[in-house]
Amino acid sequence: MTNKTGWNLDNSYARLPEKFFTSTNPTPVRSPELIILNESMADSLGLDVKLLQSEDGVEVFAGNEIPEGASPLAQAYAGHQFGHFNMLGDGRAILLGEQVLPEGGRVDIQLKGPGRTPYSRGGDGRAALGPMLREYIISEAMHGLGIPTTRSLAVVTTGETVIRETGLPGAIMTRVASSHLRVGTFQFAAKWGTIEELRTLADYAIERHFPDIEADESRYLSLLQEVVKRQAELIAQWQLVGFIHGVMNTDNMTISGETIDYGPCAFMDAYDPATVFSSIDRQGRYAYGNQPVIGGWNLARFAESLLPLLHDDEDQAVTLAQDKISIFNDLYQSNWLAGMRAKLGIFNEETQDEALINGILSMMKKHGADYTNTFRALTFDKMEDTVLFGTPEFAQWQELWQARLGRQKESKESSNQLMQNSNPAVIPRNHRVEEALEAAVEQEDYSVMERLLDVLANPYAHCEKQAEYAALPESTKPYRTFCGT
Ligand code: AMP
Ligand code: MG
Ligand code: MG
Repeated sequence: MTNKTGWNLDNSYARLPEKFFTSTNPTPVRSPELIILNESMADSLGLDVKLLQSEDGVEVFAGNEIPEGASPLAQAYAGHQFGHFNMLGDGRAILLGEQVLPEGGRVDIQLKGPGRTPYSRGGDGRAALGPMLREYIISEAMHGLGIPTTRSLAVVTTGETVIRETGLPGAIMTRVASSHLRVGTFQFAAKWGTIEELRTLADYAIERHFPDIEADESRYLSLLQEVVKRQAELIAQWQLVGFIHGVMNTDNMTISGETIDYGPCAFMDAYDPATVFSSIDRQGRYAYGNQPVIGGWNLARFAESLLPLLHDDEDQAVTLAQDKISIFNDLYQSNWLAGMRAKLGIFNEETQDEALINGILSMMKKHGADYTNTFRALTFDKMEDTVLFGTPEFAQWQELWQARLGRQKESKESSNQLMQNSNPAVIPRNHRVEEALEAAVEQEDYSVMERLLDVLANPYAHCEKQAEYAALPESTKPYRTFCGT
């Protein structure tokens, strides 16, 4: 049923066993103000932009008013954080409900930063404006790149100060996700639920994300397989654009296969598998080159939590689970290879392709070449702009590459088109994101961010507007990111 703010909410998650959540209302805030609204997304959710921008609409984004049909709750989950298992839960997020879409289906509507919940532990349940806008920008950039991701509908300021190292303007982001089910949700169920509760959760995940496997004889094994498949696709896509998640804890890995939790993430500039941006990742556990390994590790934790559903006999359950987990590496590798071939304009498969790909990557590493811009330069035959130009090894590699392109039936034009569609002109460069956030937070000037968002919405448009944003930062100071603000 729609109401005066235009929402059409249900909350199927609230019908799961009580253990999985705690009903919790947002804590009202003093003087909310709408900073940014994702109008195209609002449209696709069947929402009226004018209503969302009205005072009543903003009160919903602020948690001051609960729309009809919502059943606000904080979700319970666990997770391995940097390898250590903990009970977690939504400490600073509240699920309002699911928006029922005009064309069918539903998406979670969650407030991030709405105040304390029973899972807040020592935290204040609040969020600061900078990090919420950062999540808004990077998740929309991921969407523009065609990578599955949670999205951002709106950010409001609260008129209140959040205390971190200094006082910061408080904000709430409205996050949209196909669901917030995580590997950690299953870990929670396996550890603290009954087997019936675990089964109920698995059935719920299947109904929401994998209805095609509902009638499978071994549906829980199929569930495992589908999640393995989606994560293998997702992480390959991250690698292909140089995205570093930064905090791949099991509570930050979705069952849907969407990227979630944009805390310390950032895009790599110079190609180096050891790249880490997060200030707390001192061991490089979540370094760029390690992401596929961690993906497999997290999925093994997911498989463990499903064991009681896979077979009555534990040994047999383990064998079945291992079988499914073991396909992750191959799936990941074939997705990555397919993507890399496309980045080089290659349509068919040859066994030496991997060596060709690794050839350009190791040159990039050796010379500190920019990852995104090297592929752009290859696409537009502008290698003279890169540090690789003039090196004998590059000349040699280029000969091999050109010969390789000559061995496929597709024309040079279609090969080039494939490269244009596979190599973004623009990624959210760290210095551009910082510049946008600084203007927004310090000067209340949102125009820098809006221009950036506009460019990031079409990263494969190789035109002047995008090219302006491809430039590298002048400073070579190492970039650092932080979570939890
Ligand atoms: P994250 O590092 O974002 O994955 O968060 C890890 C855990 O810390 C989750 O349970 C969050 O809900 C919780 N958390 C993060 N920030 C806060 C905060 N300011 N107040 C309460 N809980 C928080
Ligand atoms: Mg998280
Ligand atoms: Mg976070």
